[in-house]
Amino acid sequence: MIYTALGGAGEVGASCHLLQIAGRNIVIDSGLRPNRRGEESLPNFELLQALTRGKVDLFLLSHAHIDHTGSLPLMHAQYPATPMLCTEPTQVIVDILLRDTIKIMDMQREDGGEFPLFGRREVENALAHLQTVAFDRWVEPIPGVRVYFHRSGHIVGAGCVLIETEEGKVVYSGDISVAAQRTVAGMKPIDFFQPDLLILEGTYGDGAHPNRSSQEQTLAKAVAEVVEDGGTVLIPSFALGRAQEVILILKFSMLSQTISTFPIYTDGMVRWICDAYYDMRDPERGLLPYLPEKLQNFVRNSRQHVFWSRPRRNMPEVSRLQANERVSILTKGPKVIIASSGMLVGGPSAFYAKALASDRKNAIFITGYQDEESPGRRLLELQTGDTLKIDGVDVPMLCRVDKYNLSAHADQIQLCQQVSYMKPRSIVLVHGEIRALRTLRDKLIDKYIVYAPRNAETFDPMKAPEWMSAAKQEYLEADRARFVGDVRVTGEGVEVRFPAEMRNHPTWRRRYADADEIEVAFDGPRMRLSPSRKDPS
Ligand SMILES: [Zn+2]
Ligand SMILES: [Zn+2]
Repeated sequence: MIYTALGGAGEVGASCHLLQIAGRNIVIDSGLRPNRRGEESLPNFELLQALTRGKVDLFLLSHAHIDHTGSLPLMHAQYPATPMLCTEPTQVIVDILLRDTIKIMDMQREDGGEFPLFGRREVENALAHLQTVAFDRWVEPIPGVRVYFHRSGHIVGAGCVLIETEEGKVVYSGDISVAAQRTVAGMKPIDFFQPDLLILEGTYGDGAHPNRSSQEQTLAKAVAEVVEDGGTVLIPSFALGRAQEVILILKFSMLSQTISTFPIYTDGMVRWICDAYYDMRDPERGLLPYLPEKLQNFVRNSRQHVFWSRPRRNMPEVSRLQANERVSILTKGPKVIIASSGMLVGGPSAFYAKALASDRKNAIFITGYQDEESPGRRLLELQTGDTLKIDGVDVPMLCRVDKYNLSAHADQIQLCQQVSYMKPRSIVLVHGEIRALRTLRDKLIDKYIVYAPRNAETFDPMKAPEWMSAAKQEYLEADRARFVGDVRVTGEGVEVRFPAEMRNHPTWRRRYADADEIEVAFDGPRMRLSPSRKDPS
């Protein structure tokens, strides 16, 4: 088995992994670095071509986020015959996101004369080629490779990908969230499949999340405070997942009268993603069947859209802003605006941040992951009154700025728990900044072979890394070997007869094969065996 990081190793962005197993070349995810442009935003396509000699047998997509799917049209154009598998909700959302990507690229071309990476035709072709599979069911898309999608929480449609071949078993975690969210249930443990290799995300490999529901309450109360004092709150949000969570947190806090009622406006991609969650003409289509039961019941009973609503008693107005309303909405009364992009890298959120930041009455609340180089990260590091460069403009930051942790990723303890359910032999840590991945590696290294590779590294993940000592390798090897013997008590003694294949185990050969005697020490419920020789010469 050979693993190669084509992208998404030591970073969050351009996730793309090549697995060469059982004579097959399998590529998992084909993402983009949303904050980079042109070739720099792509996974390493040349390396993929070189390692596979142009033969890729299967593409698997874990979920719809652009850092996992954004380069799919290019990938498909290069390998047009290769089957591409994802879950049904992922397909619905990828359709919207990729069409939007073309719009953004067209805009960038008009701005800076850059040539877009792909056009409408590549997107249409890739979308037409996507095949959907159900969750929780084994399929065999190509002979000798069986695949299973296990719900991974995170966002609607997201899956861990389980792969079974003659040569070994692999789990690719994708992005996982154990905590239940409003729009998606938490991930259930994978305790029914023991992989040889686990490729695991580590976004918060060095973090611990605070209690989710208290963060939600604190956010709702803080938003209400600003609005009641006559201000406007901007919540920059990732279009898919976080924005929908924030809308529902605020809406349900109003319905339960925990906070006062005020309008919620949305702008940017957020709007089209919200639309996709619910098809008014045919409610049982779209994403509704994939949402948590509680939310499905609310929608069916209230006969309302999942997100959009008109003002009525404690029900707030939740609506979309059009591009031509952006300036006029600023002078309208107190409100909250939820807009993409999530890290203030362009998009309507950057426009609103520029307009709102210099008034003390207003607030910008950050609720998601902020890239090291993003304006969102810098915003969190500023002191009141400092200036922040947004879209090339210096803006004095006088408004309130707070951060709330509504993470859609597992934290360190939750990641380690998931690993202990799966009991893999070897782990490759990806999807995180190097610091987070190394911290997580140190937590796991006692029990598993663990790699935290850089992009373009290629290796056999089943082999222990060179820096690991021989004793440690032997320990890891031995830990997985289990032999069951028959016990017979006779007048002469106690006999335990183990199966013949035990003789072939490397630890048996190294430690026990030459032994004349084996000493048994009772160690509570366990027995400890040690080999010894009668004649040490
Ligand atoms: Zn994701
Ligand atoms: Zn991701």
